[in-house]
Amino acid sequence: MKKIVKLLQSFLVLHLMVVLVACGQGQDQNKSSNNQSAASPVYPMKKSDQEWKEVLTSEQYYILREKGTEKPFSGRLLLTKEKGIYKCSACGNPLFSSEGKFDAHCGWPSFDREISAGSITTAIDHSHGMMRTEIMCAKCGGHLGHVFDDGPTKTGKRYCVNSISLEFIPEHSLRQVETTASIDTITLGGGCFWCVEAIYRNLEGVISVESGYSGGSIVNPTYEQVSAGTSGHAEVVQITFDKKKTSLEEILKVFFTIHDPTTLNQQGADKGPQYRSVIFFRNENQKKIAQDIIDELQKENVYNKPILTLVESFNIFYKAEDYHQNYYQNNKKQPYCQLVIQPKIEKFEKIFSEKLKKHL
Ligand SMILES: [Zn+2]
Repeated sequence: MKKIVKLLQSFLVLHLMVVLVACGQGQDQNKSSNNQSAASPVYPMKKSDQEWKEVLTSEQYYILREKGTEKPFSGRLLLTKEKGIYKCSACGNPLFSSEGKFDAHCGWPSFDREISAGSITTAIDHSHGMMRTEIMCAKCGGHLGHVFDDGPTKTGKRYCVNSISLEFIPEHSLRQVETTASIDTITLGGGCFWCVEAIYRNLEGVISVESGYSGGSIVNPTYEQVSAGTSGHAEVVQITFDKKKTSLEEILKVFFTIHDPTTLNQQGADKGPQYRSVIFFRNENQKKIAQDIIDELQKENVYNKPILTLVESFNIFYKAEDYHQNYYQNNKKQPYCQLVIQPKIEKFEKIFSEKLKKHL
């Protein structure tokens, strides 16, 4: 375990260095391929193409930096109706609120206004033989989509936006910390979500943990469908955490302690692809941190067996039925909780005693 700690510390330093370089104000002007002229606006957040490639997935880079368009009706936020805010997926700048979202039946998430004046900048777009008004994030210049004057509400506007340009933050996650600048989210599959959720609820810096399903193709799956093992979904927990108090490295360190990443589609007696070990990353930075940790654990032969944890691009998270949320706390007397979850929690509390939430 000492080796893991050392390793994670060095990742943290490396990560900080990357952030510092990325935030440097004295960087050379962006030699971007996205046809910006010398008169283009200067955005508060400047990064080179290379730097953007390091923090965005290839899909995000194509849409946000190369002004691509996702296929209609394919975006994960198209039908989202939950209350919350939509941030720029590149820089975290708040752009839209659920208040202004409506279904335009055009295939892309649509809004009738920006969240506050100045969140979005516009430019005339002559591409594809049309004259349209392109919309960009006012902080980083990331391409969002287009705005049209045919909106059905009193603003008369229809902001037509790529899901990939947006990150949705549900209202309940916003309550605890007003500023979202230091907030990050990761989705992990480590076997039965009851166990994994119970452990992360106790980790200092964790804001919320939700049990749910991810990685499959069925829309709004039920527990029964996922349990059947044919939905493609894994039981996962979605962890929102405050980077000022913990880190993705810390979260993953716990992850690799509390489950067995060497058993294919199985955790203890729980068998099936829904119990696979998987990390769903939201950006290249998360992907790199996950892969580096796996590589290092593998190199050091920590488990004496190959690590089978999958590292996959995050697409969508479906929250599980209410009775699965906080299952351990509500069902402590169940045999499964006593036999399976309790020992895992005890192991976690022993190893991470300094990282527990103070009230424990
Ligand atoms: Zn942005």
